[in-house]
Amino acid sequence: MTNQPATHGGAGVESLAEVLRRFAEERDWQQFHTPKNLAMALSGEVGELLAELQWLTPDESARVMADPVAGARVRAEIGDVMIYLVRLADVLGIDLVQAATDKLADSARRYPVEQARGSAAKAVDA
Ligand SMILES: [Mg+2]
Repeated sequence: MTNQPATHGGAGVESLAEVLRRFAEERDWQQFHTPKNLAMALSGEVGELLAELQWLTPDESARVMADPVAGARVRAEIGDVMIYLVRLADVLGIDLVQAATDKLADSARRYPVEQARGSAAKAVDA
């Protein structure tokens, strides 16, 4: 962990979305940032993240950040995933944090603590 400040001009998804919007505008890349293209790019980056972990044992994957080289690659792919997820949500006009908060509330309803604690069973209505 470092204590370096965020370099995107402030904390939070909204400011990152603004930085990404400006980045695309400066390069005239909005034309390529269709929801379809961004969803495909997001999927590709998730694949790159998976590629960093796929042959590790569960224990190795849990310790991956202790390896500076592998950890840096995982960190970079997480960053790529975040970039495309935030950009896709921005282009679609979705409040990303609100969407996630809504989904979490739904999961809390479907998986009450007293029934779900310690269980990986899927909810009946899932
Ligand atoms: Mg990548």
